[in-house]
Amino acid sequence: MATRKDGPRLLAFDMDGTLLDGRVIYAVGQEFGFKSEVEEITKSADVPYERSQRVAKLLKGLRVSEFTSVVKAIPLMKNAVEAVTQLKNENFKIGIISDSYTLATEIIARKIEMDFHVANRLEVKNDVFTGCLKMPLGWEKIGCDCRQSVCKRYHLISLAKKYRVDMSNTVAVGDSSADRCMLENAGVGILFNPQVGYMMKNVDCTVRSKDLNLVLDCLP
Ligand SMILES: [Zn+2]
Repeated sequence: MATRKDGPRLLAFDMDGTLLDGRVIYAVGQEFGFKSEVEEITKSADVPYERSQRVAKLLKGLRVSEFTSVVKAIPLMKNAVEAVTQLKNENFKIGIISDSYTLATEIIARKIEMDFHVANRLEVKNDVFTGCLKMPLGWEKIGCDCRQSVCKRYHLISLAKKYRVDMSNTVAVGDSSADRCMLENAGVGILFNPQVGYMMKNVDCTVRSKDLNLVLDCLP
């Protein structure tokens, strides 16, 4: 674990399965009848950002309001608001770095009054999804091998620069392989309630419970 320096700090949460007790694309797929297609694509051997593009195509024809009403019904993770409030009191800039969609992250970021959110952008025409996805990427700029639609490491570094936070004072919290490059490169990487049997090397702390207050115990 990096030694904490004085000065401002920054904490980036993953959204699905971390800030939310649920996963947006699965909940939307469940509601509109394409959950098994999502599962199939998720398990496929395609490179990660191509999987994201394929999943976005499943949303083609859906109305924005149909999507956002499902997002709003997904419960927050236990103690999400309490943990964020506490972190703000400790001088953290706080937000979301997600490989889901900005239409979801902005709802959550606003609901719990966070400072930033980064995610994929779904193209919308006449209030309907076209199936096209605008991906922030970032791995191609820093040589990260994640090849995710959102390179969480790249965006953590960018946000740290923007808020003038030393990388040793950054914290990342996430639950899956999409979070790996961010968890490994943050000052403190916290694996949160991973699937049973899922391991990640080079993380500083693992929380094996659905309670975000326990993240606070991992901080220096
Ligand atoms: Zn990456």
